[in-house]
Order: sequence, then structure tokens, then C-alpha cells
Amino acid sequence: MNDTPRYDLVVRGTLVLPTETLPNGWIAVSGGTIMAIGSGPNPSADTVHDAGSAYVLPGFIDGQTHATSYKGLAGFEATSRSAIAGGITTMVDMPYDNPDPLNTMERLQLKIDSVENLSYCDVALYATIAPGQGTAEMADLAKAGVAAFKISSFESHPVRFPRLPASDTLAILEASVETGLPVGLHNEDQEIVRASIAALKADGKITPEWHEPSRPLSAEMTATAAFLELGAATGAHVHIVHISAPRGYDLVSRYRAEGVNATAEMCVHYLHFDAARDIERLGARMKVSPPIRAGMIEGLWAALEKGQIDFISSDHSSWPIDNKFTPSIFDAGAGIPGLETMAPSLYTDLIGRVADPVRTVADYLSTKPAAFFGLSARKGALKIGADADFAILETGDYPFDASQTRDGLNWSPYDGETFKVRIAATFLRGKPVWDGTEITGKSGYGQYLPRPQSSKAA
Ligand SMILES: [Zn+2]
Repeated sequence: MNDTPRYDLVVRGTLVLPTETLPNGWIAVSGGTIMAIGSGPNPSADTVHDAGSAYVLPGFIDGQTHATSYKGLAGFEATSRSAIAGGITTMVDMPYDNPDPLNTMERLQLKIDSVENLSYCDVALYATIAPGQGTAEMADLAKAGVAAFKISSFESHPVRFPRLPASDTLAILEASVETGLPVGLHNEDQEIVRASIAALKADGKITPEWHEPSRPLSAEMTATAAFLELGAATGAHVHIVHISAPRGYDLVSRYRAEGVNATAEMCVHYLHFDAARDIERLGARMKVSPPIRAGMIEGLWAALEKGQIDFISSDHSSWPIDNKFTPSIFDAGAGIPGLETMAPSLYTDLIGRVADPVRTVADYLSTKPAAFFGLSARKGALKIGADADFAILETGDYPFDASQTRDGLNWSPYDGETFKVRIAATFLRGKPVWDGTEITGKSGYGQYLPRPQSSKAA
């Protein structure tokens, strides 16, 4: 009698495990969970996926997706399809939905329903609090599993993406301590940005190169510093969701050294584009806020080397290209698609900068965001008991053609670049959902991931 268990699935390849990289390795899966890991001959299974020498990484977790800011809750379908083509098995979606943000239990339930009806990947959710709403609903939202709260010091839209006055921010941070959840900030000072836009418009300076100067570093740094100071005053976990300049990472580090619970997130495009080099070629295609600045890239890589970056995200926004080609740059939508380029761009840019690019990718796109959002029991590492979420990466030279993306947008500032890696396959909870060419997963297979109570600070 043979008592070796027969598994649902075995995936073979070069395994990027938490503490070592194991060539000729295998992962055995049953019921969507990793049951065994080894090297050499694999145990028997219903399906064996042999990736050869390709890397097997834990599925990526995009800590900042805007799936629903344009199409509303229906946006999950195309956005999550793009995610799995990018090796992303979990998106953490931002609360600024069209037409109304996720700031109540009722809207949370609608969004969970939409995830479970439409999404190809698993989804954790941010919630927000509207100006003047008060903090009463925060405890219930936390109990229902939202992963974090997000607020803004700048009004991108009066209803969907409003600005909170400092008094509301203070109250939200006080209330957040009780929930044990981080509060993320979109960090730009409204008065400074509005005044500079008005001055530039008055001078007729409305072409794309004026986007960066319209949102000066002072606007980003003062909003960042004010929020960190409110974190110091309240003991809340204050998180800056994007920082475009090394000085911002230094600010967060200084507060952290003082004992403030402060964290800093990087979006992958700040490590890749430079306003001075790329604006003429890309124009509004590289409009994000805070802006991609000139001459920041080397300092931002130094921030990574210094350990000042807590994790890296895409900040994927689902804006159609028409939304970018406005007569004035100040009317163009801010945000770019980025799910299918996040890992390839990061891996490619890491070559020559770190000793082990693929491990750095696994750390910053899987393990660290999983820990930040309290998902480590199931996500973010290849370990026994975790969900069988895999991103399989094949190295080579791969020209990126944005017209082939699966996000329904089919444009990207990365169009025409050559990446040194491609996503050869994606598995979510043991199911093949992307085969390197086609989506093989199903809309609605994705699950809502409530943040476990045990992962919260309070
Ligand atoms: Zn964002």
C-alpha cells in the first residue's frame, strides 16, 4: 500500500522561498492550499505544471489599486483580469469609487458583492470617512474586515475623493487607534497646489510639462509632515501612500526613529520615469499626483537601499486614454494603468542595483504588502498552509505592447519598452488563472479578504 498523498496540483520551478531560492523545486497543493514543498522528484498529483527553470514567486499583492474610480463597482471585472495577467493575485482597492466612496457599511457590502460577482483575483478593501461624517462608523467597518482607512489632504473630486480638514483628520486618527488599522494619506497641500495651478493658468502654462511645477515639493512635504505630526500626537499608524521624493522617505524615517508608527509606500512609476527625460515623449500619459518629478530616481533607489520603503504598489488607475487628452493638462485625469507592468518594470529596473532582483520583487510586491495589510497567514509567502497563489516569472527580453493589455484601457506609459521578465503563469488558490497568453480564470472566482482581527494593532 502506498500512503503518499496524491495532490490536486504540483508546480515545479525555481522556488523563491522566504529564506532561500530552491532550483528544481516543487510545491504540492490540495484544496487551494500549499501542503508540501520540496526539491527533486515531486509527489504525484492530478496536474503537474512544470515551469522548468522559471521562478515561482508568491502571487503579488498590489497595495494600491483604483479599480472602481471610473466605471464604478463594475470596474472590478477588467481591472482584476489585468491584475492576474500581471501576476497579482490580491488587489487592495482604494475607497474612491464612482460615484460614491466606500465610507459606510452599506457601501462596503455593495463592494464586497461586486468583488464576489466580478473579480478574477482576491481583493482586500480600504474604507474612507467623508468630511463632517464623524468617526462612529469606523469601528463597524474595521470589524467587517476593511484592511485600512484612506483619506486625502487634497480634493481630487468633491464627493468621490474629497479633502479632509485637519480637524477631521485628527479625529479619524484618534478613532483609528481603537480599530488597530493604519490610516493612509494622499499627501498634497490643497492651498499650495490650487494657488500654483491658478498662477500657471493665468500665464497660459497649461501643457503637460507644467503638471510637475503645479504641485511643488513643498505641497507634498508639508502635507506629509502635518500628517506625521498628527500621528505623533495620537499614536495612530500613519501611512503615506505615495512619496515622490527622497525627502519624504527621510521625514517618515525620522518620525519612525522617534517611535511614531509611520510607514511609507512607493509606487513603481516613481522608480522608473523622470519628468525631465520623459515628459516630452509621454505628456499627459505620465500624469500622476503627486507628480513624477525631475531628477529623483537615484535618490528614490537609495531610499529602498536604506530600508525606508515599506512596500511597493502600482497605484493603477482605470482612466481611458481620452481622459488624458484634454486641452489643459490641469483637466486631464491623474493616474495611470500599471497592473501588468508593476512586476516586470520593478524586476527590470532592479537588475544591476540589487544582488538578487527576484527576491527583492518577492519581498516588496508580496511579503511586505501582505504583512502591512494583515494578510500574512494566507498570502505573501510560499509556505505550508498558505494559499497556493503563484506568479511564475520567466526571464528574457519581452517588448511590452499596451494594446494587448487586459484592463480594457489598452494604453500605458510603458508602451514599447522591453522588460527583462514576463509573467508566464499565475495561480490563485491552486487554480491556473493566467497561462502567459490567455486568461484561464473566471470572473467571480475572486474573494473578499477581510483583515483578520488578530492582525490589528489594538
Ligand atoms: Zn492612489
